[in-house]
Amino acid sequence: MKKGYFGIHGGQFIPETLMNTIIELEHAYNHYKKDKDFCSELEYLLNHYANRPSLLYLAKKMSKNLGGAKIYLKREDLNHTGSHKINNVLGQTLLAKKMGKTRVIAETGAGQHGVATATAAALMNMKCEIFMGEEDIKRQALNVYRMKLLGAKVNCVKSGTATLKDAVSATLREWSARMNDTHYVLGSVMGPHPFPSIVRDFQAVISKEIKHQMLSLESKLPDMVIACVGGGSNAIGAFYHFLEDKQVELVGCEAAGKGIEYNNTAATITTGKLGIFHGMKSYFCQDEFGQIAPVHCISAGLDYPGIGPEHANLYDIKRAKYVAINDEEAIEAFEYLSRTEGIIPAIESAHALAYAIKVAPKMKDKIIVVNLSGRGDKDCAAIARYKGEEIYE
Ligand SMILES: *Cc1c(COP(=O)(O)O)cnc(C)c1O
Repeated sequence: MKKGYFGIHGGQFIPETLMNTIIELEHAYNHYKKDKDFCSELEYLLNHYANRPSLLYLAKKMSKNLGGAKIYLKREDLNHTGSHKINNVLGQTLLAKKMGKTRVIAETGAGQHGVATATAAALMNMKCEIFMGEEDIKRQALNVYRMKLLGAKVNCVKSGTATLKDAVSATLREWSARMNDTHYVLGSVMGPHPFPSIVRDFQAVISKEIKHQMLSLESKLPDMVIACVGGGSNAIGAFYHFLEDKQVELVGCEAAGKGIEYNNTAATITTGKLGIFHGMKSYFCQDEFGQIAPVHCISAGLDYPGIGPEHANLYDIKRAKYVAINDEEAIEAFEYLSRTEGIIPAIESAHALAYAIKVAPKMKDKIIVVNLSGRGDKDCAAIARYKGEEIYE
């Protein structure tokens, strides 16, 4: 495979000015990923700061209620800061520190990646600036406050649809203008090489643990692993160590928003076309002229018009399948897990749960693992508003 490519996807479609910085990052990463001190410092942070390994929880009531497959939840919601984002952020911030950088910048959608980055920056004494779309700032006010509390500056991005894609563009622009002391902590398995590989490696701890935990609990591998897909980092993290185990079915759940028949969907594989954007070749939601289409769904964290290049390739070679889950289905799953298991999932993760709810009844004697990418406290106000329920903020 060509360096930096997954099949035909990936690459480095970036301005000339960024090229040296990207090469510097690639060299540093290739060095440190084999460095004993780096690896043990990162492992220490993951285990003693982020609360790893995360539980693999048998959802007994849910399994019984659905009457088919045995369902396990990988509890990334129990990580420090409330989602899988911390796995990647600790890795990249430690790497930036080793490279002599003193400042980190990041984009954020739901605010989870911004909070995780601000957290790691506080811990490791780095300056931190977060770029967030104006729409998302409104949807996720609590996370904006958390980032400020942690010492980060939050920049409001008003261009385009003022959501995640515009925040990524703004952060890339900021990085091009100031590279010497600054590392861009990209939040998902996207962007130019080497980001999709770096982020995947840092998130692969999820499937490494699932495999280990499943073998000790059930003495066999799961039949299916399900994860939601925005850019695709929690999904590739949950899939990675099963890629060679062909009997394990891998399913990514995209956000269909109101439904894939409407324009405003974020279901990239289901509705997108091949394109180049944010430094990579992959599938993107586009209009008839090839412009990036506006996307919309209930979940700020899945509101991205593209998908990471490794997923695009897993789709091409049919190793993983991708399904679209709409807002209504996700909200139903959000409420269902809260009532059934006493676990409030992130609305992003609820997209993966919704698919499990659909297929589990038809999978008697099989085992499903759902990656519960985050906790749902952050979503309660928005969902109450969506449902027209009275809330007191
Ligand atoms: C950010 C986020 C996602 C989407 O990002 P991926 O890179 O696709 O994983 C999913 N779930 C939660 C809880 C998130 O915070």
